[in-house]
Amino acid sequence: MIRSVCGYCGVGCGLEFDKDNLIGDVAYPINEGRLCSKGISELISIDTSTRLLRPHIRDSIDEEYKVSTWEESISLIANKIKNTKKDKIGFYLSGQLLTEDYYVANKLGKGFIGTNNVDTNSRTCMSSAIVGYKKSLGADFVPLRMDDIFKSNLLILAGANTAEAHVVFHNQIKKAKKYGLKVVVIDPRETDTAKIADIHLSIKVGSDIDFFNLISKRLIDEDLYNKEFVDKHVNNFELLKNKFKRAPVTKMLKRTGLTKEEFDEFFELYINSENIISAWTMGLNQSSQGVDKNTALINTHLLTGKIFKAGNGPLSLTGQPNAMGGREVGGLSTSLAVHLGFDKESIEKVSKFWNTDNIDNKPGLTATQMLDAKLDVLIICHTDPVYHLPNRNRVEELIKKIPMVVEINAYDNSETAKFAHIRLPAAPWGEKEGTQTNLDRTITKQEKLTRTSIECKPDWEIFQLLAQKLGYKEEFNFKNTKEIFEEYQEMTKLNDYMDISEASYDELSHKPFIWGENIKEFLTEDKKGNLFFVENKLLSEKTSIKYPFTLITGRTRDQWHSGTKTNLPRTLLQYKELNFCEINTKDADELQIKHGEKIKVASSRGEILTKAYVTDAIREKTIFIPISNREINYLTNDILDRESLQPDYNHSAVKISKIV
Ligand code: SF4
Repeated sequence: MIRSVCGYCGVGCGLEFDKDNLIGDVAYPINEGRLCSKGISELISIDTSTRLLRPHIRDSIDEEYKVSTWEESISLIANKIKNTKKDKIGFYLSGQLLTEDYYVANKLGKGFIGTNNVDTNSRTCMSSAIVGYKKSLGADFVPLRMDDIFKSNLLILAGANTAEAHVVFHNQIKKAKKYGLKVVVIDPRETDTAKIADIHLSIKVGSDIDFFNLISKRLIDEDLYNKEFVDKHVNNFELLKNKFKRAPVTKMLKRTGLTKEEFDEFFELYINSENIISAWTMGLNQSSQGVDKNTALINTHLLTGKIFKAGNGPLSLTGQPNAMGGREVGGLSTSLAVHLGFDKESIEKVSKFWNTDNIDNKPGLTATQMLDAKLDVLIICHTDPVYHLPNRNRVEELIKKIPMVVEINAYDNSETAKFAHIRLPAAPWGEKEGTQTNLDRTITKQEKLTRTSIECKPDWEIFQLLAQKLGYKEEFNFKNTKEIFEEYQEMTKLNDYMDISEASYDELSHKPFIWGENIKEFLTEDKKGNLFFVENKLLSEKTSIKYPFTLITGRTRDQWHSGTKTNLPRTLLQYKELNFCEINTKDADELQIKHGEKIKVASSRGEILTKAYVTDAIREKTIFIPISNREINYLTNDILDRESLQPDYNHSAVKISKIV
């Protein structure tokens, strides 16, 4: 029997593999034996006809791919890199990479090639939370754990559909409810999560800042904030108080779409709850003001002092299995490594550690900037930007102009494959080993459950081959993932609060290591949390007479992103359709659209065909299409949050028409 960990979502459930059979690990603290439909079906994704099994090359995207060799493919990439300016090279990584893969890619890109254009698809899901945490708490640090819900009285889920996106955590929420936890769900849809809520607040799309500001203002106006905590531990209180004096409460409440009675009922529960957790995910992060939404939410915890104590705090829920590990290693272009930035001191420390003098001193391009930057080489690893970046028609035009696009992937059916020149077959979950950090700082180990397919390689090995071909043989001479992990462990000592040197690589799959457990204070220089006054600036795309509906997006329980790993023959999945569009009954009636009918949804950027799912569970003039619809980003707008550069996936103006 082999103990490992699920490679799908940020919950990070433990599992056991025995004789071709996967079951949940009952001894694992996070899931206590439970797995969701994705986790339990994970073996199917190893042995499927959609695997990419050989390197492929072609001179142009109009040609068919030809089978190649590793030697030929890596030589082509290395030669191109040698003849390209470093700021014209980009690495587009993924929250599905293991920590060791991230470490080697980051070391190669930032440390030796000398480009900080090393970013990850986590830019499109978590970067607003990262910036929010850094601004308010002083570091990208999640100050509580999932099991805090058992010590809490109230869980507020804002823009988070745990029933579909974090299934096993959702089951834990249901269990905590039996012990008295109250749940408030803030979402324009009556999701499966909202169905277990004590209060469901169906707010209007884009009004989260107003909602959290209403809480903060009322806490201040009615003297319900924690004065002692604020005096000792928080900056900017007077500023916030003064700004809120002129805040237009009636207008703010109107923008949320809630009645005074609805807000009052919630607030009554709020002030009578001793311990409060606020959890959120894409509903807040994927926004033109994603960072502001995060700081508005965190403000409420700073004002009440409900942070750094059991059962309290702002809990960002990461979507991908190792989004957190990528953030720690330095997989974002806005950080160098181990949460260090590009200041002189950090560059000196990291340069000495890696024994290099090639590190550039400015942040690199983000994943959302790379295609606009006229790159000459783009290496995309374990992710599908043509599918997931917003405004797809534009994305396709831009990627076609890049002379060399390399795709490293375990599967051959991505949308990006249509635009690549070189494709390298990577080992998927189950054929490789390495570590990952789940959403609450728990570092665990994925084990290899079966042999690696003959021509496939783990991602770290692919980056190491490239590094060696570029001449960095000594610096990239890792024999296995344990050696990489141990070098990374040593590196975490460069940043006081990130030291993970006590973790034992060999024990991680059955003895996970949780870093940061002793951190009980803010990580700012003055050790105080920062309040920020933020306003709803209405920066998202507005609806109009021509495009009267707001499109929101999200996951469905059984599919993983575009379905590359889950929409497979023989799969146990597919309980839910891949392609549907939720529309309110009244709106459907007006358009004479019936449940199940084919419809066309169009924005000013593109259009898609889908099927109407007529329901009262979504607000009027709002529609929902799951991200498992591969074409969804033909519709979405490419407005970015100004600080995190995360896309605004949840606020696109669209129109709907019936197909006759
Ligand atoms: Fe895997 Fe997430 Fe499901 Fe757990 S909840 S089994 S980690 S997909």
